[in-house]
Amino acid sequence: MLNKAIFWDRDRTLNTVPEGQEYVYKMQDLHLYPDVVPILYLAKSFGYINIIISNQSGIAKDLYSESQLYQFNMMLQVLTKNLIADGFYCKHQKSDNCSCRKPRPGLIFVAAHLHNIDLSNSICIGDQERDIEAGISAGIGTTILLDREGLNPKTKASSKIRDLTSLAHFLNK
Ligand SMILES: [Mg+2]
Ligand SMILES: [Zn+2]
Repeated sequence: MLNKAIFWDRDRTLNTVPEGQEYVYKMQDLHLYPDVVPILYLAKSFGYINIIISNQSGIAKDLYSESQLYQFNMMLQVLTKNLIADGFYCKHQKSDNCSCRKPRPGLIFVAAHLHNIDLSNSICIGDQERDIEAGISAGIGTTILLDREGLNPKTKASSKIRDLTSLAHFLNK
């Protein structure tokens, strides 16, 4: 039987990014939003595999190292109480024209293959339109834009929510 998953964006979806910065990579800057752990727990209890799909072009730009990325992710894994099953990271920048940088769906396909996932029965969520476009290109059934600031942007997402507590309505057994 195929599994279902939630494909999570990382920065500004699960964890904050320091004010005025584009990237977050220092462990001391790692802060989860308070609605993250409860919804990860609920999603897992509904049978979803929690997977992170994240662009980390700061690596290609030499702003931080792969080992800083791994350390940050290990701490994230601890803070989220091992409720996240896997994470896939694009370390290229836009000019590399790779197939894994969102809005391209490459990493979602890799994750779906490795975890035997039915994409049509899965969810993707992120704070940027490129997260949504990657999900749509991959054929994910439910695409959700997380609009924490209430900016109400135009989106191709199937739904828009203000906080992760609202994601509970989209989960099914
Ligand atoms: Mg983001
Ligand atoms: Zn890439």
